[in-house]
Amino acid sequence: MSDCLVIGGGVIGMMTARSLALAGAKVTLLDQQQCAQESSWAGGGIISPLYPWKYDDLTNELSIASQVVYEQLCDQILEDTGLDPEYLKSGLLMMDEFNTPEAKIWMQKYRLDYQPHARGALFADIAQVRNPRLLKALKADIINKGVTIIEQTRVEGLLSSNGYATGVKTNQQDYLSDYIVVCSGAWSSEWLSLKERVFPMKGQMIVLKSDPSVVTNIVLDQGRYIIPRKDGRILVGSTMQNVGFDRSTDEQTRQDLHDFASQRFEVLAKSKVECHWSGFRPASKSSKVMLGRYDQFNNVYLNTGHFRNGLNMAPESAKRITQLITHEI
Ligand SMILES: Cc1cc2nc3c(=O)[nH]c(=O)nc-3n(C[C@H](O)[C@H](O)[C@H](O)COP(=O)(O)OP(=O)(O)OC[C@H]3O[C@@H](n4cnc5c(N)ncnc54)[C@H](O)[C@@H]3O)c2cc1C
Repeated sequence: MSDCLVIGGGVIGMMTARSLALAGAKVTLLDQQQCAQESSWAGGGIISPLYPWKYDDLTNELSIASQVVYEQLCDQILEDTGLDPEYLKSGLLMMDEFNTPEAKIWMQKYRLDYQPHARGALFADIAQVRNPRLLKALKADIINKGVTIIEQTRVEGLLSSNGYATGVKTNQQDYLSDYIVVCSGAWSSEWLSLKERVFPMKGQMIVLKSDPSVVTNIVLDQGRYIIPRKDGRILVGSTMQNVGFDRSTDEQTRQDLHDFASQRFEVLAKSKVECHWSGFRPASKSSKVMLGRYDQFNNVYLNTGHFRNGLNMAPESAKRITQLITHEI
């Protein structure tokens, strides 16, 4: 099979590279810094949209199809690399909005239901991954599978000849390829002209040090969430700030997130905030994922704009791009 260039080494780029390599492609992945440092690292790792009925059909389809394969995918990556992405079916306890008419319609349509719970509705099948570990494992896995990773190389535009993209221009050198897949997250519109602009939507998150018995399910309330990791660390997120590529975190948000968690689990008021960070979700005006062929060149594909759901949509997004490219050949 032909050469493929994947632009961006977040969860979308690395899963796409993995899937293309498994289909027999010779894959090179370029990242402007190091892989696995941006939104995919910063996210919470919940393998479901937060209130799925608020999203379009494609988001739900990609998410549900990915949920079906996630556990097995993580097991396979663990077996192949020895690195554990910590897939955990912790369930999600939704404290609000589960009884709205749109929620009921969605549950009927997707034949999903919750278990009544004293504090709301428990969606017992919702899982999480420890995303920084998933990314570390994915990087090792794709290297093992023959993907060439080139870091510290910023793509600046497409090269073309006779109506075809022939490769990309970077701040280092040109790279030529038969196919190009754009997986550059919140930066996609920084180097490529897209019909719908992708822009960063900053999210801040904190992690508390606690005990594994304190919170056992992911908890969602008023758009914010609490995610208990296996080792007792508890993530609390997140904000939605349309402020460009500004990475700063602020004391008020740190306090608000800590208060949010303490109001639902009193004991967390005493927990230490171990870390506070931000990340840039790849957002767009429509909030719809951009998945498919780029309108200006037939051999360029988009896999970007996953907004709040890139971790949970990644496996199926990667599969669909791979199918499109392999059917071309
Ligand atoms: C606080 C927060 C919480 C979240 N929680 C969840 C969650 O629980 N579940 C979920 O599913 N999603 C969640 N998300 C969303 C999810 O993280 C994103 O949708 C997903 O990570 C997007 O993946 P990506 O690979 O497209 O982007 P990124 O991980 O940002 O990767 C893009 C990569 O492209 C590289 N790049 C960019 N431009 C160039 C260029 N010109 N040349 C070369 N390389 C380039 C970057 O360096 C980067 O490595 C969350 C996001 C945030 C910020």
